[in-house]
Amino acid sequence: MVELDSLKEIELFLFDMDGTLYLGNTLYSFTAELLSAIKAAGKRYLFMTNNSSRSVEDYIKKLASLGIEAESGDFITSLQATAVYLKKHHKGLKLYVCGTQSLKEELRREGFSVTENLDEVECIVMGFDSELTFKKLEDVSKLLCTRPDIPYIATNPDYVCPTEFGSVPDCGSVCDMLFNVCGRRPKVIGKPEAMMPLLAMEMTGYSKEKTAVVGDRIYTDVKSGLNAGVLAVLVMSGETTEKILNDSEDKPDLVLKDAGEIIKYL
Ligand SMILES: [Mg+2]
Repeated sequence: MVELDSLKEIELFLFDMDGTLYLGNTLYSFTAELLSAIKAAGKRYLFMTNNSSRSVEDYIKKLASLGIEAESGDFITSLQATAVYLKKHHKGLKLYVCGTQSLKEELRREGFSVTENLDEVECIVMGFDSELTFKKLEDVSKLLCTRPDIPYIATNPDYVCPTEFGSVPDCGSVCDMLFNVCGRRPKVIGKPEAMMPLLAMEMTGYSKEKTAVVGDRIYTDVKSGLNAGVLAVLVMSGETTEKILNDSEDKPDLVLKDAGEIIKYL
């Protein structure tokens, strides 16, 4: 743990969204003030999300419905990081995408060719697929079982995605199911990997010393901050309980009741 005052050094805040700035469809009371106070202090924030079922346009609409104005440059998503990774390591390969239409469209827009013809597939991309069907599970099983060396990428490792009533299975749970079938685990791109915070710093020009990741989940948000070597801040306004925090091997640099506490250190 570090001193609370170390927040004063931070100029780039990478905010997780659900559980950190809002819960489901309810904006936290401090969020609007926090975001405008960061801007007023001449500092910067980005929304950093592992959710690959929605495009940045979908998120802009979602935030607008909560009264928060945002533009595409305010986001860093696991999809963007996945696109950067694919361009670097698997350029030009034809993708099988186990994800939403929105994910497929975004990857096409990034210049990738997406196919459902299994004979053509050269790389598998798993996302948070809220449109999952048994056919897709069968397709990916077939690819993994018959072609053990095919590149296999997952946008994010989250087991669950929060909903109004509790949770639904996210990408990590589906990948676990496929592990039980084929014995392979994907290369994971989103939080807890360092890739998104590193990409965010590259996009904005801020150094590690000036950057913080702020989120409500230890095994994704906090861990990505620790892995990237930036200030890793846990907020207790989402899914982490005192017990989870005490039991966790990964310790955040700072623990706050909620992100609203940041306002007095800007
Ligand atoms: Mg969260």
